Amino acid sequence: MPAQTQLVHLRDYSLEELETFFIELGEKPFRARQVFQWMWDKKATEFSQMTNISKTLSARLEEIATLNRTRIVYTSRSSATETRKLLVQMMDGKTVETVLIPEESRVTVCLSSQVGCALDCDFCATGKMGLLRNLTAGEIADQLRHAMAISPRPITNIVFMGMGEPFHNYREVLKAAHIINGELGFGIGARKITISTSGLVPQIKRFADENQRFKLAVSLNATLDQQRDMLMPINRKWNIRELVDACRYYVEKTTNMMTFEYVLLNGINDTPADARRLLRIAQQVLCKVNVIPYNDIKGRYQRPPDQTIEAFLKELSTGKFPVTVRWSRGDDIDAACGQLATTTDELDLTLYTPNLTKHE
Ligand code: SAH
Ligand code: SF4
Repeated sequence: MPAQTQLVHLRDYSLEELETFFIELGEKPFRARQVFQWMWDKKATEFSQMTNISKTLSARLEEIATLNRTRIVYTSRSSATETRKLLVQMMDGKTVETVLIPEESRVTVCLSSQVGCALDCDFCATGKMGLLRNLTAGEIADQLRHAMAISPRPITNIVFMGMGEPFHNYREVLKAAHIINGELGFGIGARKITISTSGLVPQIKRFADENQRFKLAVSLNATLDQQRDMLMPINRKWNIRELVDACRYYVEKTTNMMTFEYVLLNGINDTPADARRLLRIAQQVLCKVNVIPYNDIKGRYQRPPDQTIEAFLKELSTGKFPVTVRWSRGDDIDAACGQLATTTDELDLTLYTPNLTKHE
């Protein structure tokens, strides 16, 4: 029996990679479709559950491969909303958070793409962790499998807005998105899957060139380089001009509308002049604007008062693009945008006290 680390992790394979795996094993390529469907659509956790696979093949797979990738350690539930946060643990012990947000007409799952994040945005709890490692495609798609198991209703929308910068882990994130979208996977429509980036220009262009059908959101968060340099260090690499040009390139190439996210920080980027600059930027690109009033991470920032938020939105409303506001859901369990973080080794259970359920 090979050691655990040498086992092949089948959940990390795309359908095409799984075909190659079975061909190399001397099996027919259609085995890949069967096993892929069992792993994802049918949510099998053991090879023995795969009833159309022969006992011999199942025993062979047991020897060389594994379906284990992650497990739920804890879930906590917001008392104010139906939002739930899942703490998902990888086989190496590292943990990430996944958020399930049931609303009236839809149920959204917010997925993590990395353990931590290297980009160090000043207002974000994940950024404060630094980057521990990238997640694999299987570890990303597994978060959705776990969320499905505890969701009160079918999941309709996926956002890559949890821990991490998805475009810093481009290949695995896109592979996971295709598993989630595929009919033998979870069958969720590409236009119901949104990938949010802090603004990695080469990857935005690559996403456009590959004509990926998933939705793109870009965290703009400021309208002057001086402001954005301070809030998001990535701006020193690709400034607002270069970022907006890349967004325009994406829209022209794909004809898809994109979204600009804008976290509203009291006294920092929330004045009528900021709103007017944002309006001018948004008018250059086929987009909608999603304003996110800041969620507290006990740092140096604050959410603006309601009147300031309203005045900002009023100024923006003169534009021809749609504007939405993302009021936090689940901030009582630190599950809102920007509040996700896990401790590096030991689990700090004080983070999970509200309405805690332990999963054995
Ligand atoms: N790394 C990606 C996706 C994860 S962050 C990105 O930055 O886009 C998802 C969203 O949460 C981003 O729009 C980010 O700007 C926002 N965000 C981060 N910290 C926040 C906070 N404390 N309050 C509100 N939104 C926050
Ligand atoms: Fe990373 Fe996004 Fe947080 Fe910035 S906002 S530190 S890119 S997760």
